[in-house]
Amino acid sequence: MKFYSLNKQATAVSFKEAVINGIAPDRGLYFPESITPLPQSFFSTIEDISYHEIAYRAIEQFVKEDIPEETLRKIIASVLDFEFPLVQLEENVAVLELFHGPTMAFKDVGARFMAGCLEYFSQEEKTQEVTVLVATSGDTGGAVANGFLGVKGVKVVILYPSGKVSEIQERQLTTLGQNITALEIDGTFDDCQKMVKTAFLDQDLLANMKLTSANSINVARWLPQLFYFLFAYKEAKKQHKELVFSVPSGNFGNVCAGMVAQTLGMPVPHFIAATNINDVVPKFMKNASYEPKPSHATISNAMDVGDPSNFIRIQHLYQNNFKTLSKNLSSFSFSDEETREGMRKLYKACDYVADPHGAVAYLGLKKYQKQHPNTYGIFLETAHPVKFLEVVEDTIKHSPEIPLQIQKVLDKEKKSIAIKTYNELKVYLMAH
Ligand SMILES: *Cc1c(COP(=O)(O)O)cnc(C)c1O
Repeated sequence: MKFYSLNKQATAVSFKEAVINGIAPDRGLYFPESITPLPQSFFSTIEDISYHEIAYRAIEQFVKEDIPEETLRKIIASVLDFEFPLVQLEENVAVLELFHGPTMAFKDVGARFMAGCLEYFSQEEKTQEVTVLVATSGDTGGAVANGFLGVKGVKVVILYPSGKVSEIQERQLTTLGQNITALEIDGTFDDCQKMVKTAFLDQDLLANMKLTSANSINVARWLPQLFYFLFAYKEAKKQHKELVFSVPSGNFGNVCAGMVAQTLGMPVPHFIAATNINDVVPKFMKNASYEPKPSHATISNAMDVGDPSNFIRIQHLYQNNFKTLSKNLSSFSFSDEETREGMRKLYKACDYVADPHGAVAYLGLKKYQKQHPNTYGIFLETAHPVKFLEVVEDTIKHSPEIPLQIQKVLDKEKKSIAIKTYNELKVYLMAH
């Protein structure tokens, strides 16, 4: 399977090259040259197929020329070693909990899958070491650090804004050691991201090292996210209702992966992308005009994105046709106060503690179901509520229990390197 660049200037490459490059040389996102639907029998018998087999059958076509079956099955088994419960909360509302992985965010799935692929590629060729360079506003860094810990042939350098991630998130980034280095940037998340972007264009650096990204631009992080939409479908099929997914969206990689599952034949006709006040896509779905803007800080900060990188993939999936897109996607935006109201409602009416991102998705689903009451809605809870402990406690006046995974990191010692300028980053990368 070849992957082409959505900017159409660079040549198409293999899965392996797409993973190692991250982004195409023409700065376009990679996209698979074809998506062949799975046979009808796959969906009609999915209740009898194991999670690992579902994942294998869904991703096989994209990677099989570069990763042998046995290795791919091993990678899938090690990625999917935790639960993906679908919990019914109201008559036509269920929550898909994606936070049972090691860092308690859905990003564990993509980060671990990508790590497994890069590990295989580096063993296979004894090629130059790959350096994964990633900027994080919180969740990505922890998931990537954890996923890549101890992976041979790969070094990970994480940039995070000093004082702007939660304590739990900072510990998840800075306490692992080994091949993981945390750089604490005197600046904002946007400054971190700018430094990473500059590095990817720095010819001096590129001549000396193989640099790749680990955000959802990378196909190996993006595509495996389609697995859990299929798992939820398997569980919810017995409802015999029209299914709809509501996804809390920032860079729109997660919802786009769900749409790939739909293209593979999953009988789910509609998605809801719920956002906070960073509402570029909800606005686009209203007036068909795409206007990126600087991001605003909110309580659902993993979605504070002013120019969602994967939206171009979504438009491409639906042939850049606004009418087709509208048939498949609704998008709604909610303020922090509405989000808190959603958290309180879930807690009071359903005895359910949601994090702010999950609450945004819940609100999006309820809004859609007002017009479409006969649907069975699944909203994605993308992080454990303790990752946003202060907001949760402050909103519902209840303290959720700290799970073991989190307690463990809180006891460890933080190690980071303070950095102020791009030049300091460059000096660091050149010296290591
Ligand atoms: C990253 C993240 C999101 C947004 O996912 P995208 O794929 O960027 O749309 C939502 N919720 C949480 C908790 C996240 O960490």
